[in-house]
Amino acid sequence: MFGLMMDTPLLIKNIALHAERNHARQEIVSVTSDLGVHRYTFGEAISRARKVTNVLSKLGCSSDARIATLAWNDFRHLELYYGVSCSGRVLHTINPRLFADQLIYIINHSEDEIIFFDTAFTGLLESISDRCPTVKAYVAMTSENHMPTSSLPNMLCYEELLHAESSECDWPDFDERTASCLCYTSGTTGNPKGVLYSHRSTVIHSYALCMPDAASLSAHDAVLTVVPMFHVNAWGYPYSSLMVGSKLVFPGPKLGDAETLIGLINDEGVTIAGGVPTVWLPLLEHLKKTGQGVPTLSRTVIGGSACPLSMIEEFRDDFGVQVLHGWGMTEMSPLGTVNTHNPQTIEYTGAAMQEHLVKQGRGLPGVELKITDEQGQDLPWDGEAFGTLKVRGPWVCSDYYKLSTASSAHDGDGWFDTGDVASIDANGYMKITDRTKDVIKSGGEWISSIDLENVAMSFPGIRECAVVGMPHSKWQERPLLVVVNKDNDNPVEVSEVLRFFEGKVAKWWIPSDAVFVGELPHTATGKVSKLTLREELKGYQFPDDG
Ligand code: ADP
Repeated sequence: MFGLMMDTPLLIKNIALHAERNHARQEIVSVTSDLGVHRYTFGEAISRARKVTNVLSKLGCSSDARIATLAWNDFRHLELYYGVSCSGRVLHTINPRLFADQLIYIINHSEDEIIFFDTAFTGLLESISDRCPTVKAYVAMTSENHMPTSSLPNMLCYEELLHAESSECDWPDFDERTASCLCYTSGTTGNPKGVLYSHRSTVIHSYALCMPDAASLSAHDAVLTVVPMFHVNAWGYPYSSLMVGSKLVFPGPKLGDAETLIGLINDEGVTIAGGVPTVWLPLLEHLKKTGQGVPTLSRTVIGGSACPLSMIEEFRDDFGVQVLHGWGMTEMSPLGTVNTHNPQTIEYTGAAMQEHLVKQGRGLPGVELKITDEQGQDLPWDGEAFGTLKVRGPWVCSDYYKLSTASSAHDGDGWFDTGDVASIDANGYMKITDRTKDVIKSGGEWISSIDLENVAMSFPGIRECAVVGMPHSKWQERPLLVVVNKDNDNPVEVSEVLRFFEGKVAKWWIPSDAVFVGELPHTATGKVSKLTLREELKGYQFPDDG
């Protein structure tokens, strides 16, 4: 028997229409390269998003056209988020940090018809445009008097196009499973893979992000989006904020600039910000150096790679900011788990609390988690057993876009293999041990590089570090600690840092050596690239080997 409830589709346009009716006067603040700090309201944003839809029709885009953006976080990018998807077309957000060959691959693979771009990326597009035959026009996201001089074929001006259009347009109704956005994984090995979100998955994920045990967003919040809008839809904030009426603060091209971010937090009364740990390192350093605080900031969602305990404690103890440690991936829209307390964990003290805080948290309602052994058998949720982490749910991808072969990431029951290794405790809190491809196997036993990095990060004098498995003739692999010094005039002593691990991890886990680098290689999404690091360290030999 079916229920007798309305089958109205879950569409992104309903987020926009709701925002327009209920939060029209809420503010959007953007740092821009052409207008300085730009301010306007949700109402104006949605009105201009309708103009975007009209522009796309005028330019003759097909009804399911892929429309690309190569842009920083700002108000025009937000207008494209809504103007493209609400028309039934697919927004393809491109990560400008990809290599040229990867950019060409994804533009051709998705058959983008138009590319909207920030003028900062003019040169990048000029260097690849002759290899992107599907692109009919390049739209510079600026006004007429800031248009770049460029050899790009059919270059148009965003503000000029919008100026010529009406803000009247009825966004159509369609099946909620219609594709809304396309986001490619960064493809550390092989070509990037396309994750194709639907209206339904985006709307449900937006509700989940707002929940109290997720980001707990409301109309009283001001959100600073430090995650790029070209990376998994800035973790969903551009949708959730409009849903509940949180003020939106976009750092534009200043995404990686600690001083600008702190200025925005304090000037705009930011209450919540989300980003990867590498973004917060310089921010915390800048706060310490200048003696500034961030009194309005109550919480930060940190994920994308493991957030070290030292960072969680520094935010809490020095700045009164709660870190919401989260985990997810492009294939999961991205949010899978968030570490918020339950009535028992909030009472933890000392080491028990520290052990708890580094966990990545409980699955959001809607996301099923399980861990399996090498035979695919379920492992217990006892906080000890660890194995392959698999997920299922309405905002998890069911396949990759236009893959020539079926994805091996999904099993027969629809579980998606995340490529992570994890444990889950009896309360449901999941802890990532490693990425499968970064696992260190010493004498046949697994060592968690993330646990070791966590210990090392609380050693004074270490700015950033990574632990990688390097070949060892006796043990197959041993952990090597790679360190970036905070202060090169006072470098960390190898023997001291290795001694620091004693009593904190099993003896045989202690890295066999430490080496120093000026900086660690990062991926296009700001994570330490262990693949590159291992390549850079090729030929390294442990002192006790050979
Ligand atoms: P890409 O590898 O393309 O940057 P994602 O951003 O989707 O793609 O990366 C997802 C991966 O990031 C996860 O599978 C996991 O390995 C890692 N990750 C995300 N959040 C965390 C976290 N809090 N702790 C440890 N690893 C994390």
